[in-house]
Amino acid sequence: MRRPPAQTAALVLTLAVPLVLAATSAPATADTLPTTGFEDSGGADWTTLEQEHDFLAEVAALSDRVELEQVATTAEGRPIHLVSLTDGDGRSPGAIAKNASALVLCLQHGNEPAGREGCLQQIRDLALSTDPAVKRLLSLTTVMFVPTVNPDGRAANTRVNSEGFDINRDHLALETVEGRLVAELTRDYDPEILHDAHEYGGNWTLYNRDRIHLWPRNLNVDDNVYGLARSLTLDYVDPAVVEAGYTTGEYGIYYDPTTGEPVRQVAGDQDERILRNATGLRHTAGLLVESLVNDFEGVGVVANNNRRVDSQVVGIQGTLDMLSEQRARLIAQTRAAEARATSEGASGTGVIYLDGADNDTPDPARVVEPPCSYLLNQEQYDGLADELALHDIAVSASDAGWVVSMAQPSKTVIPLLLDARANHSVVEATPVPCR
Ligand SMILES: [Zn+2]
Repeated sequence: MRRPPAQTAALVLTLAVPLVLAATSAPATADTLPTTGFEDSGGADWTTLEQEHDFLAEVAALSDRVELEQVATTAEGRPIHLVSLTDGDGRSPGAIAKNASALVLCLQHGNEPAGREGCLQQIRDLALSTDPAVKRLLSLTTVMFVPTVNPDGRAANTRVNSEGFDINRDHLALETVEGRLVAELTRDYDPEILHDAHEYGGNWTLYNRDRIHLWPRNLNVDDNVYGLARSLTLDYVDPAVVEAGYTTGEYGIYYDPTTGEPVRQVAGDQDERILRNATGLRHTAGLLVESLVNDFEGVGVVANNNRRVDSQVVGIQGTLDMLSEQRARLIAQTRAAEARATSEGASGTGVIYLDGADNDTPDPARVVEPPCSYLLNQEQYDGLADELALHDIAVSASDAGWVVSMAQPSKTVIPLLLDARANHSVVEATPVPCR
């Protein structure tokens, strides 16, 4: 059962807004407003999985903007939920895919709990707020959350899932239930934005910003999608977080403590198995966000936990601001990227980057000419049919075998998955040259 609400800062803000309830709901007062286990404890304890389920059910019962559904089951039998919020018409995948939407993933790594807490609070606030800006946002767009992508990892407080997989290295091969779910949601709902919430362990002198963020670095990502993801980071999420009093930086970059200049890169490369890159390759503006776990300022566990969570709440707000303000541009540019990939794939123009990043010039030998298609034999196709479908890659039968044409939006993913020269390909398909 829920404990009596404690007066955390985030809760007080919410309580200041009067509630409008669904006609069928019993009247709710500030005392009955749903609160998370984290809020109930004042920031001392993370919300348990049981508390999360009760909280989401309670929020869904109080708001006709919310749809709560179980979309997968983990290896250990735990449910994974999708929460969709909209005031618009229809929550079918087709209706959502047609309009602008954002997908917020809150806990790929089970031992990074602050993003999940931020998501739960945002879900409640979007569901129950009477703020005209929220009503407008949800009348024009859909905001989706997977509050706990990795419940087995949360239960065990591990980075990996119960089978030992790092889910955030599985967005190409799709070997995990969790990775497959993210691909499926991306395919079916076609979100314009994907916000991926994490936490990081810092370094006292060189790596100590409250928040670090990163866009896709993979060079195969369409230029305009890359631009949208950078804009999401630099024009929306960074400023929102700074305005709330937090420091920000680029994920994976150590900064000189005196000059503030970058001195070394320790993470954040072009790896196509990582979601922020995989998302970009699917023509969605993706963003990795990380809150600093360490209490470098010595404020104590509870205050530090609240800092971590509040910075996540504020960061999500930055993403929602871009969705609201840029929805037409987001739709136009991500769809143009799909069309561009299809036409380049058909004509065999452009190149495939097997290495290199936006801040790392590739070895020319690793920049190759695209084929017009790849050929899979029957055994290869049988082993990959499900994964190809999850990546939204169309395949056709021919006398020579199964043909994967490059003339389709997923042209940006196909070589990385099927070409033996790629760093993480899962099969050795036969490239068929254009001429
Ligand atoms: Zn993480």
